[in-house]
Amino acid sequence: MAGSDHTFPHPPAGGDAGRSLLGRLNVIQGDITVQQVDAIVNAANSALKRGGGVDGAIHRAAGPDLQRELDTVGGCPTGECRISNAYRLPSKRLIHCVGPVWRGGGANEDKDLAGCYRSALELASQHGLATLAFPAISTGIYGFPPDRAARIAIDTVLAGLGDFPSIREIRFICFDTATADLYRDLLAEISKRRA
Ligand code: ADP
Repeated sequence: MAGSDHTFPHPPAGGDAGRSLLGRLNVIQGDITVQQVDAIVNAANSALKRGGGVDGAIHRAAGPDLQRELDTVGGCPTGECRISNAYRLPSKRLIHCVGPVWRGGGANEDKDLAGCYRSALELASQHGLATLAFPAISTGIYGFPPDRAARIAIDTVLAGLGDFPSIREIRFICFDTATADLYRDLLAEISKRRA
């Protein structure tokens, strides 16, 4: 497997509900396209047309049938997501989230980003997908501040996991060391607060 695996933190035996939710989160530095999970989450655009960044990598790895399927879907509003087959990727399905473009913070960006994570969990739960890998949605070409985005990602997923008990594992796939450190630091902070 590419990158380094870090489960954080390990669920404490007999720990309270909040701490066991944290035990379902992993931070992994590496490439999302090699993740062996039920659903790989994509950071897509609202037209669901092949783009750059993680979307480009996912299309490249999945093959041209992915775009053919997405063309039948016809697009997706910001803050929502759509499901597709995974084709040559190792997951069962793909979940395409449309993150907000950062416009300075006053254009519902936080709410739309949280909507991506929330709706992806909801869709995964509806389709019986128990393990998910998320990229850092909106933090590349869309320019969302990485620290703010990571807080929203973690907070929204932690809140959502309580509502969707069938989801066993969430992997936050960080492409670079700085992003992985950011997620690990935030999780350490939350874990300390809940201890
Ligand atoms: P957006 O348009 O939503 O900003 P990007 O794809 O430009 O999406 O970037 C989102 C995040 O995905 C960035 O942190 C970027 O470094 C990361 N990324 C790019 N390629 C990959 C990949 N193959 N696996 C995991 N993360 C990736």
